[in-house]
Amino acid sequence: MKEKKQNDFTALLGYAGSYKGLTFLGLALSAVAMILGMAPYVCIWLVARDLIAVAPNWTEAANIGTYGWMAFGFSFGGILVYFAALMCTHLAAFRTAANIRKQGVAHMMKTPLGFFDNNGSGFLRNRLDGGAAETETLLAHNLADIVGTAAMFVAMIVLMFVFDWRMGGACLLAAVISVVTLYSMMGGKNAALMMEYQTAQDVMSKAGTEYVRGIPVVKVFQQTVYSFKAFKAAIEDYSSKAEKYTGGVCCVPQSVNLTATEGVFIFLVPVVLLIAPSALSAGSFAGFITNFAFYAVFSAIVSTALARIMFASAGLMLAKTALGRIDTVMNAPVLETTKDPKVPRDNGIVFHDVSFTYEGSDVPALDHVSFAASPGETVALVGPSGGGKTTAASLIPRFWDTSSGEVLVGGVNVKDVDPHVLMDKVAFVFQNNRLFKTSILENVRAARPNASREQVEAALKAAQCGDILAKLPDGMDTVIGAKGTYLSGGEQQRIALARAILKDAPIIVLDEATAFADPENEALIQKALRALTRGRTVVMIAHRLSTVTGADRIIVLDEGRVSEQGTHEELAKAGGLYARMWEDYGKAVKWKITAGKTEKEAD
Ligand code: ADP
Ligand code: MG
Repeated sequence: MKEKKQNDFTALLGYAGSYKGLTFLGLALSAVAMILGMAPYVCIWLVARDLIAVAPNWTEAANIGTYGWMAFGFSFGGILVYFAALMCTHLAAFRTAANIRKQGVAHMMKTPLGFFDNNGSGFLRNRLDGGAAETETLLAHNLADIVGTAAMFVAMIVLMFVFDWRMGGACLLAAVISVVTLYSMMGGKNAALMMEYQTAQDVMSKAGTEYVRGIPVVKVFQQTVYSFKAFKAAIEDYSSKAEKYTGGVCCVPQSVNLTATEGVFIFLVPVVLLIAPSALSAGSFAGFITNFAFYAVFSAIVSTALARIMFASAGLMLAKTALGRIDTVMNAPVLETTKDPKVPRDNGIVFHDVSFTYEGSDVPALDHVSFAASPGETVALVGPSGGGKTTAASLIPRFWDTSSGEVLVGGVNVKDVDPHVLMDKVAFVFQNNRLFKTSILENVRAARPNASREQVEAALKAAQCGDILAKLPDGMDTVIGAKGTYLSGGEQQRIALARAILKDAPIIVLDEATAFADPENEALIQKALRALTRGRTVVMIAHRLSTVTGADRIIVLDEGRVSEQGTHEELAKAGGLYARMWEDYGKAVKWKITAGKTEKEAD
């Protein structure tokens, strides 16, 4: 546990970079501030000593005023130094958090694109941005308090020799008990229990979010909260873990801790009562009283310092989980880039014995898949849902890298192509096209930032977006998502196609480009697709078989394997999976016509 904390601390300082020194300066200043803060109590002791020495002729005590000013000076100085300490630690903490964010974003830029499919933007933001923010409390406040308290312990031991070791010992005992009980709740074998308790809390809050997301479903199906078994189970699990930890582990140590922290007197007074008689008989009563006066007021500062490290241990915990969250981003695998990139010779695509298994899955999504698209050819991937079509398409722009076998573009393994060159060569329109919340112009221009307004306009026209622009208040400059300007799935797809058209890449990868389309949209999308795919190498996935009949080659993927390939005519006659799909498709189309209405196709 101790060692782990150490590692977390070094990990954090690793991110601090050149601000490491500032952190240490801040911590040192915090220790100095603590010592300065203790000095006024020594002044009080001096006052008490001088007064008792001259009692009852109070006016003879000449130095009282000086001590008073000294106490004021130390207090004020202590506050100033503490301020300076916090300035340093805050500056370092914010810079460290900034470094974490920068390094995280830099790392994410190197991960494969598929990483962003598996980890939503909200999730990544929470991991990186949220994680970085949570290290701030530890670096800016908690560490300074821990160091300050450590300095206080050292000073207390020194003061024990200067004043009265027995009374000092009593105060120190209270402080030691407080720290030991704190550790017993969070360290050793109870650390695991506390982790369990915190994990249960996390799980519960996630289940709660799921529940809120699911409220529409609950309402539609007239269900109750009890139908969310996962949420209910998470609440029950949390409540049992919370009881186990707070009742079973924390109850006694926490009571003892609070008593020791808040009631240093409880330790001091009995000691004083015990040693009072011997002090009286030895005739050192004046010294005894002054020491007592010192420790009586001094116990207040002990309480404050101890209360602070209570929060510090919470900060340590927070920073620890924050670092864990940051690590999930920092440890994400990166896309390997070749040192000596090769240039694709042409725009052909070859899958050569490609297998691919998603991380955490034990069945391959692609199993020894081979096919080819010569430059300018259109190859269609079809097959049942889950057959591996999307996976195959996503290997071309390197959303993922193959587990075995190779994907070649222009005769070169995609891993050996400079990623920028590859991205320039391939335009992809995938199912989850992301449109940004900016104007349509900027959305389309994302594909080619230096494109002129006219070029964007031409691309939108080629993508059959005329009707969309016509109905929007500011045409191309309308901001998507603002003031109720939402686009339907089919409309979004046409914008995405315009983007791909503007990119003007020689290779096009299309996934389920018509999945969301209604009939009017579909006709327009088909037209847009023809504009996009003309004269290019195309790998397309389409559910409506009518759109793939003209393909140069159809690859039927079933359970990750190529079950057949050939032209539409060949496959329709072959009597295999494709022939059955074609027959079913024909029936479905007929059924739709006889039913007198068409429906959205969904997968
Ligand atoms: P298709 O596009 O033909 O419907 P996919 O390529 O999407 O099929 O999926 C192929 C297999 O890979 C399926 O079994 C699916 O569950 C799995 N799969 C798809 N995407 C992921 C992912 N991001 N992580 C894990 N498994 C996935
Ligand atoms: Mg798919």
